[in-house]
Amino acid sequence: MKATSIQHLVNVSGGKDSTAVYLRAIELGRPFRAVFADTGNEDQRVYDYIAELPNRTGGPVVETVRADFTRQLAQHRDYLIKEWPAELIAGRPGKWSFRRRRETLAEFEELAVAVRTGGTISWTLEPTIPKPDDGNVFDGWRAPVPDPHGAWVWSAGFQPMSTEEAAEVVRVAAALHEPTGNPFLDLCISKGRFPSRMAQFCTEELKTVPIVEQVVLPMLKAGPVLQWLGIRADESANRAKQARFNRHESGSMVWRPIFDWSVEQVWAQHRKHGIAPNPLYALGMGRVGCMPCINCRKSELRNIADLFPDHIDRIRQWEEIVASANKRRSATFFPAVTDPTDADRPGSYSRIDTLVEWSRTARGGRQFDLFFQAQAGGGCTSDLGLCERNAA
Ligand code: SF4
Repeated sequence: MKATSIQHLVNVSGGKDSTAVYLRAIELGRPFRAVFADTGNEDQRVYDYIAELPNRTGGPVVETVRADFTRQLAQHRDYLIKEWPAELIAGRPGKWSFRRRRETLAEFEELAVAVRTGGTISWTLEPTIPKPDDGNVFDGWRAPVPDPHGAWVWSAGFQPMSTEEAAEVVRVAAALHEPTGNPFLDLCISKGRFPSRMAQFCTEELKTVPIVEQVVLPMLKAGPVLQWLGIRADESANRAKQARFNRHESGSMVWRPIFDWSVEQVWAQHRKHGIAPNPLYALGMGRVGCMPCINCRKSELRNIADLFPDHIDRIRQWEEIVASANKRRSATFFPAVTDPTDADRPGSYSRIDTLVEWSRTARGGRQFDLFFQAQAGGGCTSDLGLCERNAA
């Protein structure tokens, strides 16, 4: 068997943990490559910080990858031109569907034990709460109905429309299916929606896939690849259960070199190398990543609105665009939350401005509170952990 050197790849997000790993790789003295997946929903300070890292440290340039949705947009445009006119003229009532929640690591462990021992597991495939009544409602919002295994989630329908109205909706939506070059926006146009906790396709599509396809797979042709990840056990109970090393489905191996580090050790690593942390932390952000992240907390949304209103303006524009590229002509960045105070538009989804207004209140807005309290504070559930979690 031929001995082949391991190729090292450090995943960089611009946040404190991945910076600590980048610095650790420099300390260990092995040649390495570094990669950053640009979602297109980032603050300029992230791009500047990553671009400056090599100058400040003597480490390698951080290569940037971006997902490209040109093919998906073209496919979806062909589909909507062909299929939407009849669908729009017919209309579609809303419907309930059951979304299973992601299984936790504990459940997988229980499953593994059950498989080994022939024992049973405690969760079932069937929801325990019966499906709510559809009631033939065409549009409007209905609160999700939680179940221990997931939730019944309402998909709004749309009213039937005239041939002329349908033709106009199709014309506008088709025109919006030209690639904008912004990965986050192009992904949402091609899907006709924003990602959500129940459908968190953003991490996979915007980070994992471009890193794997554009960097990891080409590297694997030359030999084994070890990806270094900035994941720490004390970030969350789920992350604490991850292994230090594992094999990724891409064929690479994965290492979490700061797995046992505390957040103080991460800051100490910055100080040791004379590297200032990403300036977003000093500006009050608990995490570095999408601005905002679909998983952000109430306080984080308030910070973004107060400190970086341009990002809120951008999300407002994106909501307009994605809604116009969508059959229901409705799309909101934060999903399944309705405005409890809006008497004029009961049942409508709440756009970013309403949520920003609410984020500045101390209390109130039960649906919003429930939704945001359930937020994990940012971060992804992918095994590469490519989105930073909130330190707060
Ligand atoms: S989980 Fe949040 S930070 Fe990660 S890609 Fe999605 S929106 Fe961005």
